[in-house]
Amino acid sequence: RSLLAGIRRDRLATLAQREAKRFATARPQTQAALQKGSAHFLDGVPMHWMKDWPMPFPMLVTKAKGARIEDLDGFGIDDFCLGDTGSMFGHSPAPVAKAIRKQAGRGLTYMLPTEDALAAAALLTERFGAFKWQIATTATDANRFALRVARAVTGRPKVLVFNGCYHGTLDDTMVELQGGKTANRQGLVGQITDLSHTATCVEFNDLAAVEAALLTGEIAAVLTEPVMTNSCMVLPEAGFHDGLRTLTRRHGALLIIDETHTISSGLGGYTSVHSLSPDMFVVGKCVAGGLPTAVWGMRAEVAARFAAYNEARPAGHSGMGTTLSANPLQFACLKANLAEVMTAKAYAHMEKGAERLSTGLRKVIEKHRAPWHVVRVGARVEFICAPGPLKNGTEAATAHQPEIEAALHTALLNRGCLIAPFHNMMLVSPATKKRQIDRLIAAFDDILTELFQ
Ligand code: PMP
Repeated sequence: RSLLAGIRRDRLATLAQREAKRFATARPQTQAALQKGSAHFLDGVPMHWMKDWPMPFPMLVTKAKGARIEDLDGFGIDDFCLGDTGSMFGHSPAPVAKAIRKQAGRGLTYMLPTEDALAAAALLTERFGAFKWQIATTATDANRFALRVARAVTGRPKVLVFNGCYHGTLDDTMVELQGGKTANRQGLVGQITDLSHTATCVEFNDLAAVEAALLTGEIAAVLTEPVMTNSCMVLPEAGFHDGLRTLTRRHGALLIIDETHTISSGLGGYTSVHSLSPDMFVVGKCVAGGLPTAVWGMRAEVAARFAAYNEARPAGHSGMGTTLSANPLQFACLKANLAEVMTAKAYAHMEKGAERLSTGLRKVIEKHRAPWHVVRVGARVEFICAPGPLKNGTEAATAHQPEIEAALHTALLNRGCLIAPFHNMMLVSPATKKRQIDRLIAAFDDILTELFQ
């Protein structure tokens, strides 16, 4: 009989159908509201990623607080997706909500800094290290601007990224390995440029391939996450980050570390926890407690090279920055989040909860003898429907089981637990309670019991 990641296909189909139906029939109000109002949107959703949830139709959220989210049909759900990291510190953390209330009557955007901006900059340096900071609105933009500077100061054309990476919808990074060659990622909409002219793609954990790419002299920067998080999580092998640092220095390329997800690692992100020393640092999503904000910074040495570049360049638009970035609301939230929410105490709670979650899930997997594994990076936990550890993006792509994941996610949701779509990611926030974690483990066990026994 044919098995999919250890599961009988007929059992999976039964579960998937029943759970989809259960989700739909339990939500008459949501269905009625969507029927009435969603046609004004392209494909019925305000942003097309919202079609990628596995449920038959999206939930309409009425409110979220801490690690709980409620929908229009009155379901209260434990939220382990947390906006795919945007709300990793919980929904509407009290200090951030207070900062929003305070700023709300004082203007929302004026293209001038505030005293909060100065305080936030000092906090950024305290948390993440000595960088010269700039503020953007999305991590996509922060990476885009960091890459501009890297190309400007090195005079080189290409970015080196890892196969299976994700750094936002920054065009330059939308490449993959096809038959060992860098090529445009399949599925890109309206992309008419051959991105291999501006990017080189190699496998994560492959220092020999990194060095070969650097030897061409074309690489302005290596842009990487400390851990690959966007397919199935892939951890760096021992010595990989040291190797990246040594090789980029040796060959005159900058090292840009994108901490947008690995900020889950602990205070100051993976960079602080594991003593990395990037030339440029990027983090977005949850950095201002859920208010759209991203930050990027460069070492003083890079800033000096950039200053020299700027002096020599002709007057005219830099091609960087966006009008609404670095607005006073962002700074109010950034300051509140860095000072009062993103604290060592908060991380200690997140770490402990995530350890409880990963241990619990691992035990369930062992109990059912599922050929699966669990990975944890600080507050971030993922179960992967394949044996591990995974070494690179190619292995991570093969490890995905979209059919199983879709059924499982819907079944978890019907048992009151929301986990991230696209991958099997769960975040433990400072507001997440032990009993929420235990409910998730029990729901996972319940579902695996049906699938494996
Ligand atoms: N960097 C990483 C590592 C990410 O995971 C993401 C988003 N998933 C981004 C950058 C882009 O963030 P945004 O979509 O907020 O621009």
